[in-house]
Amino acid sequence: MEKKTFGTEYGFQTRAVHTGNDIDGESGAIKRPITMANSYALPYDPSSLNWSEAGKNLYTRNGGSNQQYLQERLASLEGGEDCIVLASGVAALSGLFFALLKSGDYVIFSDVTYIAVYRLLHELLNEKFGVETTIVDSSDPEAVRKAIRPNTRLIHIETPGNPTLKISDIRAIAAIAHENGALLSVDNTFASPFNQRPVELGADFTVESLTKYINGHGDAMGGAIIGPKKYLDIIRAQSQINLGATISPFNAWLIMRGSVTLPLRMKQHNANAMQVAQYLQTIKGVSFVAYPGLESHPGHAVAASQMNPGFGGVLSFGLHADHDTYNRFVSHLKVITSAVSLGHDESLIVFLGEDDERQYLYPEEFHGGFFRFSVGIEDPEDIIADLQQAFEKENLL
Ligand code: PLP
Repeated sequence: MEKKTFGTEYGFQTRAVHTGNDIDGESGAIKRPITMANSYALPYDPSSLNWSEAGKNLYTRNGGSNQQYLQERLASLEGGEDCIVLASGVAALSGLFFALLKSGDYVIFSDVTYIAVYRLLHELLNEKFGVETTIVDSSDPEAVRKAIRPNTRLIHIETPGNPTLKISDIRAIAAIAHENGALLSVDNTFASPFNQRPVELGADFTVESLTKYINGHGDAMGGAIIGPKKYLDIIRAQSQINLGATISPFNAWLIMRGSVTLPLRMKQHNANAMQVAQYLQTIKGVSFVAYPGLESHPGHAVAASQMNPGFGGVLSFGLHADHDTYNRFVSHLKVITSAVSLGHDESLIVFLGEDDERQYLYPEEFHGGFFRFSVGIEDPEDIIADLQQAFEKENLL
């Protein structure tokens, strides 16, 4: 049977449904099955096999079928040449950093990133492996340019950034990186490829936690890197065969299934988050709302130039209140769940207290603690009513 292919002549939604799926050759099933086996039959004489070859049906740590189907879909949705899917978003970040960097190299990265990026680059790679690092305000491309040194190998940014929703200009930073012989990687987890495709904007790599929007149902972990095959082949061998960060076939299958509805879910996340952000702006007890879709956001113009059709489902906001009030506020919520993670179907809120060692890098208004709120796909009226009754109970209206 001829393999079905869906190139970019097809729309995003069609590719989210079809790319990477096909009729199963053996059973005729119209959904490809999960292959849970961890070993594959060897040829009559296996002595010439390379046990360290990635992507071959040999041993599941070298890569497996469900992972490959998902890679095909994500490369298409992110508009990149190739994709590798690993066990988590952090496995993807560390896979990229360990493959590209060696001691003596220099990395510039955003002052606002998921904490693991800071730990990996600034602590592990810097302190243990002699990679030089600098943290910059990447919302200012000139600050990035000024930080360049002759040995700059990589610039890593996150936009929107976790947890302050800071926006960085992907096109401008890609130009600075390339003028100086460096590579640019962009963590696209908050936006998802439905709203933003960094490789199409000039980045060399997109990194994504699949645990969030792409799976979308809060029941599987995974991570992906999208970029040129020549680099991804290195990561494929290193991260899987040598470091063991291979995704389980079941998780790859779950994420494949979740990704089918990514476009539909993102439309609802975008619309709900915008409505909730606008509502929060009307509440007296709210000290600030950070959402790139709001015109009041300092990065709104840049966000609008690189995010389309929406600005994602995550926002942050603060209260005119003390530490205990934040915790009591959360205890009144019923539709919205107090939990880490983001990009799930359900609304998730997390009180990020005063304990983040990097708070000094955040804008002033974040310093006394704040909420990161991943707005789910419930009815927006129910999300707002849930917030409203909690504000009422704490006399914050
Ligand atoms: N990147 C961003 C922006 C994140 O928010 C997270 C997790 O919250 C990660 C990467 C790490 O992903 P994972 O938890 O799948 O390892």
